[in-house]
Amino acid sequence: MAITQDILEKLEAIVGKNDCKSKDFELAAYSQGMIYTNPTRPDVLLLPETTEEISEIMKIANANQIPVVVRAGATAGPISQPDGGICLDMGKMNRILNWDLDNEIVTVEAGLSYYELCQEAIKRGYMMPLKPWYGNGVTVGGYINGPSMVGTRVAKYGTLNYWLFGITVVFPDGSVHHFGSGAYEGCKDFMSNAWMSMNWPVTMMCQSLGSLGIVTEASLLTVPQPEATHHAVCGFEHIEDLCKAAKEIQLKGLATDIEHEDYDIYDLLGMPLPKHYEVVLAITNEGIKEEVEAKGRRAMEIMKKYGGEELDPAYGHLTYDNTANFNFCTAAFGQFCCAAGCASYESYPEIYHIIKEEWAAAGIRNGWSCWTCYPNWVQGWTIGGFDYDTQMEAFNRAMFRIQKRTYDLPDSYPFYFTEQFEEFSQKVKDWVDPNGIMNPNSWFMLSGAQSRMVESIPIDAQM
Ligand SMILES: Cc1cc2nc3c(=O)[nH]c(=O)nc-3n(C[C@H](O)[C@H](O)[C@H](O)COP(=O)(O)OP(=O)(O)OC[C@H]3O[C@@H](n4cnc5c(N)ncnc54)[C@H](O)[C@@H]3O)c2cc1C
Repeated sequence: MAITQDILEKLEAIVGKNDCKSKDFELAAYSQGMIYTNPTRPDVLLLPETTEEISEIMKIANANQIPVVVRAGATAGPISQPDGGICLDMGKMNRILNWDLDNEIVTVEAGLSYYELCQEAIKRGYMMPLKPWYGNGVTVGGYINGPSMVGTRVAKYGTLNYWLFGITVVFPDGSVHHFGSGAYEGCKDFMSNAWMSMNWPVTMMCQSLGSLGIVTEASLLTVPQPEATHHAVCGFEHIEDLCKAAKEIQLKGLATDIEHEDYDIYDLLGMPLPKHYEVVLAITNEGIKEEVEAKGRRAMEIMKKYGGEELDPAYGHLTYDNTANFNFCTAAFGQFCCAAGCASYESYPEIYHIIKEEWAAAGIRNGWSCWTCYPNWVQGWTIGGFDYDTQMEAFNRAMFRIQKRTYDLPDSYPFYFTEQFEEFSQKVKDWVDPNGIMNPNSWFMLSGAQSRMVESIPIDAQM
């Protein structure tokens, strides 16, 4: 439904005149995210400051069936790009609410920059278990709800849902819910409630792409900074050999962080490898000095067993915590784009080859970077740069072909869900958001509609 003057006035009364914007020039900044898409814009932009304000906004949106898109750092691209309706910018909900260091828990508002949180933890001798990948625009709420949740150290700590202990959520009908132990005031009862904290609704919101509700607060684990960090790095001629080594290292618990990068990424970062290895495996350990050195030695033995050639640890240092080095917003990559795959080690090399082949055919400069995740799966990324004026068509064709060609691999699972899962998630959606107002574009992905579309178009149709 269109936003009438009457509705606009009600929204304005909730957030205040300055935080309710509907002029064309005010909306223009919200027409695109960090990844290239066709521009669209909301009808109205709101900048709420409290959970209560969001609750009141949602009551109006729901009663009038107005779509709502939560926009945080916009680093995930099209999924937080509103096309009409209300856009909720979380930027003003950016406070740290409580450090409960006895229990290693920090409670924050969801619009807080994740990097600011990392910096604040460091000041206290702590750190956040993972760091997200998309630079310092990422917010806590975006990291929870977006297609992310992995990052540096994921081999040790697992995806964010393992260490997200509480959230406050506003559902589309305006109701406010506190889930998980961290929702207790001040988190003081955190530990005593942790083992029976009914955490499943917390997990349900993870990666829901803003299609179920709005996370306004979150309680996350924070951990003490390590005494020592150690890198063991090897170059491999073939990605298949790297996979054997990485899998064994992960299963033996010999790494805090396992990253694999290809020749091209080192080249892009300005530190080319001494030889043209297809891929490099960088094992990082954090902990006490004797422990990290011993683990590094064992990891090196395993890498050499599978044909790895030892490289200077500085190569590991360059890519470890790689957001510090991969600044997508700088000119190095041109127009930023990416293609990714998640898979078991068995399908991972094939995904790598497919993505690299398609980028090469499209003439898109790129580099590959990847993590091994807890317990034992792999997520790989190419970061590419293309010329918007001359390569747009080639880029779109390559993206389509990558999706299509990786679709049928036995255990690759970026956006494709089983029918049972789709049916179940549709029931949850109907229950939580019966009017379907929450982020309709992202629901298109989660409902499986996008994957069916990719499946139904013959690959040659895009040639
Ligand atoms: C396909 C894909 C895979 C990715 N994989 C990784 C990865 O492995 N590791 C990594 O670190 N990064 C990854 N990213 C990037 C990552 O998704 C974003 O950096 C992250 O989601 C944070 O985004 P943001 O704060 O910029 O939020 P936005 O980009 O603005 O929003 C992301 C999504 O979360 C929703 N959202 C944001 N805040 C809230 C909130 N408070 N309540 C409810 N919904 C909210 C938005 O509506 C949107 O759907 C990936 C991105 C894409 C597109």
